[in-house]
Amino acid sequence: MHESEKRCLESCSNNDPEEEPPGKRSISDDLEEEPPSRHSISAVLEEEPPSKIATTRYRLFGNIPDNVWDDWKWQFRNRITRVEQLAQFIPLSTGEQAQLRLVTMRYPLAVTPYYLSLINPDDPDDPIRKQAVPSAMEMTMGSMGVEDPLGEKEDTVVPGLVHRYPDRVLLVLTDICPMLCRHCTRKREWRNGGWVRSPAEIETMLDYISQHKAVRDVIISGGDPLTLSTRHLENIISRIREIKHIEIIRIGTRFPVVLPQRIDNELCSMLAKYGPIWLNTHFNHVREITPEAAKACDRLLRSGVPVNNQTVLLRGINDSVEAQTKLCHGLLKIKVRPYYLFQCDEVQGTEHLRTPVETGIKIIEGMRGHTSGLAIPTFVIDLPQGGGKVPLQPNYILAQTEGELVLRNYEERIFHYRNPTKLARPEMPAEVLCPAGSATARLPQEAAANSG
Ligand code: SF4
Repeated sequence: MHESEKRCLESCSNNDPEEEPPGKRSISDDLEEEPPSRHSISAVLEEEPPSKIATTRYRLFGNIPDNVWDDWKWQFRNRITRVEQLAQFIPLSTGEQAQLRLVTMRYPLAVTPYYLSLINPDDPDDPIRKQAVPSAMEMTMGSMGVEDPLGEKEDTVVPGLVHRYPDRVLLVLTDICPMLCRHCTRKREWRNGGWVRSPAEIETMLDYISQHKAVRDVIISGGDPLTLSTRHLENIISRIREIKHIEIIRIGTRFPVVLPQRIDNELCSMLAKYGPIWLNTHFNHVREITPEAAKACDRLLRSGVPVNNQTVLLRGINDSVEAQTKLCHGLLKIKVRPYYLFQCDEVQGTEHLRTPVETGIKIIEGMRGHTSGLAIPTFVIDLPQGGGKVPLQPNYILAQTEGELVLRNYEERIFHYRNPTKLARPEMPAEVLCPAGSATARLPQEAAANSG
């Protein structure tokens, strides 16, 4: 564990005199299986039996008492960070281990025991595994893409503070995360070995926000800001709340997915004091929606913190209509709103996980009409060089004139839709508008047939 990560946890430990010392027991010693325990909230989850997850936990980690397993600091301290450790859980040949050691020299490894327990060790294509376990392709395709695809360095106005849009800023408090997701946009930070913003840097960021009255929305992100102790976070959040022109605070975190035990009562009570606070999290696959994750989201919601989800579209993980529909239905069942589906950024070391843009559009097209609009996220590309997010939709407008649109629906049926008269919108130009690529010779006949 890096020094700053230790400091991070030490600051938590100071708040918690009853904390257990780091457990260093051999996690593969005890192979006895115990019957899984079920949270009552698991009743809302039908897709994946939690028993399988719990069984893996007991198979891999032995009879660890629930109070230790559920202690997020224990989970954090016992993250799997070396290939040799990983090989105790997932079958890896000597050659594969050598390859992965090379990969981790550039792109380190960190997985929580909890997230590791969700992996099916017998399936090399397991969608959970692919998010957590390094791949040789991170190096073999490593020349493709760029380190900072979103141009965040250019928009950094003071250390740790990105100001791109007029009314909102991004506060990057640390580069430490509970898990290092193989598709991470900020993979470039991993080599910096873990840092937390100093008190002086935080003062500078708060000064900047105070002086910029157009800023009404502060996004706290990272790394993962919930790696900081609740007390440390409260110091920062309470200061932001004192700034009169700040309307909302948003927290970007993957803890509900990779270490949901972090979302404890202490944290939720603190967040409840400084609302409105919104939380964006990052579920990528329905199998991540475990009883523990559902409980974490439920706690947040009961504390008045709305939870939205931002999925990254990833090759071989969630790049199908079926995978996305299951995920979004699972999210709605735990009252988490599917917010964005991101095209995977062109980050160095992630090319093997990226999908063609058309895949995302086809997924949205395959969902629209077949499920509730509430279950359909907005598919977006975050443009390079700080261009911002652009939503992408299937094209439903086949032709358009001043008075009429020709539209197709999800069943490929064609409809004419009368636009309001010119009187209702005198500013509209009179020319005929045709979206690019929409003109088809068959249109008039099909439209006529349909209208008949
Ligand atoms: S939690 Fe977010 S910031 Fe951290 S490694 Fe995963 S994707 Fe990157």
